[in-house]
Amino acid sequence: MPPSRRKESSLPDDCLFCKLVRDGDHVAVGDGFVAIRDINPQAETHLLVLPERHVDTFRDVGEFTPDEAKRMLEFVAEVAHEAGLTDYRVVVNVGAGGGQTVFHLHWHVLGGKMRGMPA
Ligand code: AMP
Ligand code: ZN
Repeated sequence: MPPSRRKESSLPDDCLFCKLVRDGDHVAVGDGFVAIRDINPQAETHLLVLPERHVDTFRDVGEFTPDEAKRMLEFVAEVAHEAGLTDYRVVVNVGAGGGQTVFHLHWHVLGGKMRGMPA
């Protein structure tokens, strides 16, 4: 049997981040993207940028149109700026081996004193 990638994906119906896109406590809202606070912060400021559209992982970033991908990156920078950050880290964990635990693509924005890398 070929190796299954099933456990590395969520269907939008049972995806935690799809739910948080719909009814989470958003700290910023863009055109197709939202930002939320990470529930287990690894830095003084630890935000997550979520695309509204469900894409499992950064490996599939090609599912976004060039315009969406550009706007998503600009929104990550805007969220950091609005959080008062000039110097910060942007982290994307890719796949279980890369520390990804929620299979809806998201960008960690970490600023201020760091406790560790998000995993
Ligand atoms: P990753 O390990 O890169 O997939 O990141 C998933 C992140 O989601 C972790 O940093 C978790 O702390 C965070 N997280 C999990 N559940 C929630 C939640 N209900 N609200 C906000 N952040 C969450
Ligand atoms: Zn999702």
